[in-house]
Amino acid sequence: MTTNTSNTQIRHDWCLTEIVQLFELPLNDLLFLAQSIHRQNFDPNALQISRLLSIKTGACPEDCKYCAQSGHNQTELEKEKLLEVASVIEAARKAKAEGASRFCMGAAWRCPMDKDMPYVLEMVREVKALGMETCMTLGMLTLEQAHQLGSEGLDYYNHNLDTSEAYYDQIVTTRTYQDRLDTLQHVRDAGMKICSGGILGMGESREDRAGLLMQLANLPEHPESVPINMLIKIAGTPLADEEDLDSFEFVRTVAVARIMMPRSWVRLSAGRESMNDQMQALCYFAGANSVFCGDKLLTTGNTTVSDDKSLFERLGLNTVDTQAPTEELNRDMAVLAELKRSAENELFFNAME
Ligand code: SF4
Repeated sequence: MTTNTSNTQIRHDWCLTEIVQLFELPLNDLLFLAQSIHRQNFDPNALQISRLLSIKTGACPEDCKYCAQSGHNQTELEKEKLLEVASVIEAARKAKAEGASRFCMGAAWRCPMDKDMPYVLEMVREVKALGMETCMTLGMLTLEQAHQLGSEGLDYYNHNLDTSEAYYDQIVTTRTYQDRLDTLQHVRDAGMKICSGGILGMGESREDRAGLLMQLANLPEHPESVPINMLIKIAGTPLADEEDLDSFEFVRTVAVARIMMPRSWVRLSAGRESMNDQMQALCYFAGANSVFCGDKLLTTGNTTVSDDKSLFERLGLNTVDTQAPTEELNRDMAVLAELKRSAENELFFNAME
């Protein structure tokens, strides 16, 4: 197994055996390799911050076994219809006033219906008009829908693969792995950037974690953003009593993702709330360089803004948005402070309560 750190190689021909060999490296060797590659491609002390709003909550027809929003799962979640465009724009405007540059909007759909598209497109148009970067996650897309979103200027589309192809049918049965790959291809064909990753701790094996990363890295282009989620065990979902994943295995997965996709933003996403500061710090050392900020994600809790701010300061991490010029590297620390002050704001958080 090579541990050469001298050159960043962008590869799309990974095989499972060599990925598993990376996982099996002594942790110090794996972290050294990942950190070395990270430094060749990113400021090692910079974190990108994303903001997330649920624009339609619950009653999803898909049967994703981890999800509070699935209509197949008996959770306590309060459903909410598609938000009014004006509410979304108001939330985006407020986020911008607080300094945010990227606004992510998520809807619990199998796929957008034709009747939804005009509203969704208007959201993209108006958020773009505020001068913000946009991201959406709406379920599966046809090529035509992808082109519609791309034409309005949607920057990123999120569509996770969730897990390996081999383990996938243990987690979701209402859409196929190929359906997901098709949507990712449509997003690419429409000229948008891809945000795609998975969830760890769903009972999958190490080979499955390796298989997920193999799928992502062997796409024709690496996703620009790779969210790595830790399962949040939600009462009423089939995975509520799943065994905890070993923390070091999570860190190893982040490190292997960094090595395999050297220029992608690797995001610590759901489940950060359950990680202690030391584990988060190890993940940043392993190459994670993006997080969601805000006290809630789509429907689940997140680390508090004040805890984030404190940890980032203690680790000497600067927050940065991907579009910002370098002199603005520290700006988002002020955003975090402002977010803390506005954490009670009903309008921004109402879709996720
Ligand atoms: S993960 Fe998305 S597609 Fe699956 S049930 Fe939840 S909202 Fe629906």
